[in-house]
Amino acid sequence: MSLPHSKMRAPAIVVVDNDPEELASIEEELTRRYGEDYEIVAKRSTTAALMTLKKMHEANQTVAVVLAEHWMEDLAGAEFLAHARRHHPDAKRALLVKWRAWADRNTAAAILNAMALGNIDYYVLKPSRAGDELFHRTMSEFLHEWARLNRPESKEIRIVANQWSRRGHEIRDQFARSGVPYAFYTTDCEEGRDLLRDAHELVKDDQKRSLLEDADTRRADLAVVYMPDEEPLVNPSEEEVTKAYGLATEVGERRDFDVIVIGAGPAGLAASVSASSEGLRTLTIERASIGGQAGSSSLIRNYLGFSRGVSGAELVQRAYQQAWVFGTNFVLTRSVDELHTEGNRHVVRLSDGSEATARAVILATGVAYRRLGIPSLEDLHGRGVFYGASVSESQALAREDVYIIGGGNSAGQAAMHLCRHARSVTLLIRGSSLAESMSYYLRDQIDQVRNIDIEFRAEVVDGEGEDRLRRITIRDRDTGETRPVSAAGLFVMIGARPHTDWLPDWIERDDWGYVKTGPDAKAAKQEKGFTDQDGHDFQMFETCVPGVFAVGDMRHGAPKRVASAVGEGSVVVRQVLAYIEGESAPVEAART
Ligand SMILES: Cc1cc2nc3c(=O)[nH]c(=O)nc-3n(C[C@H](O)[C@H](O)[C@H](O)COP(=O)(O)OP(=O)(O)OC[C@H]3O[C@@H](n4cnc5c(N)ncnc54)[C@H](O)[C@@H]3O)c2cc1C
Repeated sequence: MSLPHSKMRAPAIVVVDNDPEELASIEEELTRRYGEDYEIVAKRSTTAALMTLKKMHEANQTVAVVLAEHWMEDLAGAEFLAHARRHHPDAKRALLVKWRAWADRNTAAAILNAMALGNIDYYVLKPSRAGDELFHRTMSEFLHEWARLNRPESKEIRIVANQWSRRGHEIRDQFARSGVPYAFYTTDCEEGRDLLRDAHELVKDDQKRSLLEDADTRRADLAVVYMPDEEPLVNPSEEEVTKAYGLATEVGERRDFDVIVIGAGPAGLAASVSASSEGLRTLTIERASIGGQAGSSSLIRNYLGFSRGVSGAELVQRAYQQAWVFGTNFVLTRSVDELHTEGNRHVVRLSDGSEATARAVILATGVAYRRLGIPSLEDLHGRGVFYGASVSESQALAREDVYIIGGGNSAGQAAMHLCRHARSVTLLIRGSSLAESMSYYLRDQIDQVRNIDIEFRAEVVDGEGEDRLRRITIRDRDTGETRPVSAAGLFVMIGARPHTDWLPDWIERDDWGYVKTGPDAKAAKQEKGFTDQDGHDFQMFETCVPGVFAVGDMRHGAPKRVASAVGEGSVVVRQVLAYIEGESAPVEAART
């Protein structure tokens, strides 16, 4: 946040094409539609465009979109776009192609290669006539996605915090995961200071006001959230933030439902959409904010229908809206701590002590990363040490050295995201290879990126830093040697563990805690001497308790992908309906 927004130049859209007529027509098209809000810059050579991008970077001018024809006389468009990223890592970058150009093998290869390497976000068809809406649809999507993350003045929610305040990180993470846009200002920038002065006037509680007074000491763990027409929130809890945003954190007057969904990650959201769309009265309870693990994914590329990929936060925000318009009741920031049955009702107890009942329950509680358990690093959680890929932190780590522990797809994706800003990103892998844990397309991308390194047979054993993480100690697992390295960020993405400890014993789980369903649940009950006297046929996602279903990552044997979680969440509702319609077996029949 170096310049007040009033003094900033308009963000730029840069277009490069060596055909003067085509360049002129694209420039005209862009100017007519976006000229009021963006500076349109057109260049005939990639060399000239690179020099302009460099100057813009030096002058602190942001660039929203860069478009380039691939077949240029100097540097090929795809290569130029790869270079463009160095100066403007957040700009959307696309190859410009003519209609049917993808039928040409060389052009198709250039697009696929640049996509695979992460050098472009997508390709754009050149406008075929004035007002070509297909061209503008892609442009508008690019600008929307860019502005969502990079245009603070367009956001209604503003957060002021010390850069390395843990509470500040948690709040930003909460918004980022659920796809709610916000602007972030550090306490030492001009806007941050102005906002804190406003807060001092507006906050009524004396104790909270006094917290604002040591805002400028770098160590103060301070975060202030501003929402339109609300008193600023000083160091608010997750629940206070959720309430102020207008979302429910308590079960309302209605306590009895057809189905209760526990967890609002992709599986729980899909179940909520399907159940509500089938007319079932649905309550969805989430212990944090919506999104689950998917909310922390910077770019999901393997989910059907999003050829450019979609950020996890965007996907879950859309899913939440969809469930809401079908009538799902949501309760956020409450965990379900207990589940039992009374007659033909399942009863869930929430962390605030309240209860709700339903004829069927869908468990969709997912998994979470295992903690490192190293006290020095636990102390720095949120101040340089992050569990999962904290998309909200990438800009704060610009030009810093960052480490990621883990060799799965999520670690690979995080590396690709963080390398845009960080000076170096190092993946620390306990084993000797990534072949089994990471998809080929990610390994391939990582190989091509100059500032990502991989250290095999390595583990982190210690860390230090007073106000924020400064150093970690890495141990070579073969020689036992340790060495300290400077590190501003450590992302831990190891050993997913299902959220199932709270479930009653009579819901069968495997040795790792994943819930057994369908034939696995039936077999587990039979092993314990349970006889299927009433002929209850376990449905595929049904646990060993009739009417209690499990879907997504927490289910034994689940593929652990967004698409499969969504698929299971959708399909399970047919089984819930069949159960409710039949409701043959008394709920308690399956208890041993
Ligand atoms: C960084 C990252 C990147 C990823 N990238 C991809 C990708 O590109 N493609 C892909 O296919 N997959 C990807 N994945 C995996 C994918 O996100 C998961 O498979 C998917 O989110 C699983 O969905 P789920 O709903 O089963 O569980 P989760 O997403 O884990 O959601 C479970 C939810 O339940 C809530 N919960 C837990 N316990 C309780 C309780 N007791 N009461 C109430 N609520 C509770 C949690 O807070 C959470 O919100 C990625 C994962 C991560 C972490």
